[in-house]
Amino acid sequence: MSESIPSQDATEVLRLEQVRKTFNTGTPLETEVLHGIDLRLCRGELAALVGPSGSGKSTLLNIIGLLDTPSAGELYLLGQPTRNSDDATRTHLRNQAIGFVFQFHHLISAFSVLENVLMPLMIRHGKPSGDDVERARNLLEEVGLGPFADKKPTQISGGQQQRVAIARALVTRPPLLLADEPTGNLDSRTAQSVFELFHRINAQFGCAVLVVTHDPRLAADCARTVQLVDGRIVSDETNLPEA
Ligand code: ADP
Ligand code: MG
Repeated sequence: MSESIPSQDATEVLRLEQVRKTFNTGTPLETEVLHGIDLRLCRGELAALVGPSGSGKSTLLNIIGLLDTPSAGELYLLGQPTRNSDDATRTHLRNQAIGFVFQFHHLISAFSVLENVLMPLMIRHGKPSGDDVERARNLLEEVGLGPFADKKPTQISGGQQQRVAIARALVTRPPLLLADEPTGNLDSRTAQSVFELFHRINAQFGCAVLVVTHDPRLAADCARTVQLVDGRIVSDETNLPEA
C-alpha cells in the first residue's frame, strides 16, 4: 500500500509527513527551521519533545496545534489531512482534537478559576450547561484545585495557575494534549508535580500527550523521548521504566 494513504489505524492521533517550515519566505531573511519532520503519535502515548533552544520545538508544536501551517509536507490529525484545510475546518478540528498548555498560562484574570476552565466549552457553544460546570469542577478536583474554583488566577500560586491551564486544556476531552515548556517557570518540585499530573491524565483519559521540556529528568520519566536538533529529529526513543 502507498505510504501516502491516510492511516486507517483508529489509534493514530497525529502523523507528520515531511513537514517543513520556512519563515520570511521570499525575503533576504528567509530561513527554513524545520527540515522534513516525520512523526507519529498514537492514543495513550506520552512523549517528551526535547532539544536545544532554537531547535524548532515551539514551531513544531504550533504546527501540530494548528496555530501555524507547514510550508511543505502534511499533518494528519485523527487521520484527517490539514495543510490545505480552510480556517473554519482548522478551527473546528483544533477545538475538537487539541488541548494546548503554554509556558505562560494565559489565564484571564477577570474570571474565576472555574470560569477559566469553562472557557473552551463557552467558545464552543455559549452559556455553559450544568454538565459543563460539573465536568469543569471534576477536572479541578482532579488537578487538586477543587477548593479554589471561585478564586481569581491572581489569588493562587504559579504551580496552581499552570494546573488550571491544564484543566482548561482538558475540558473538551481532547484526544491530543500539547504542552510547550509548561513547567519552564516553575521550581523543580512544582514542575515534577505538574508532570505527575500529565502522567495521571494520560493514564486516566488515554489522550496522547506531547510535552516540550528542557529538563532531562522530566523527559526520562516519559515513555518516549523525541529529540529535535536544528530542525531535525535526531532521535526517537522508548524509555525503559526504571527497575
Ligand atoms: P525552540 O522552541 O526549540 O526554542 P523555536 O521553534 O521557537 O525554537 O525557533 C526555531 C527557530 O525559528 C529559531 O531560530 C527562531 O529564531 C526561528 N523562528 C521562530 N519563529 C519565527 C518567526 N515567526 N519568524 C522568524 N523566525 C522564527
Ligand atoms: Mg520554544
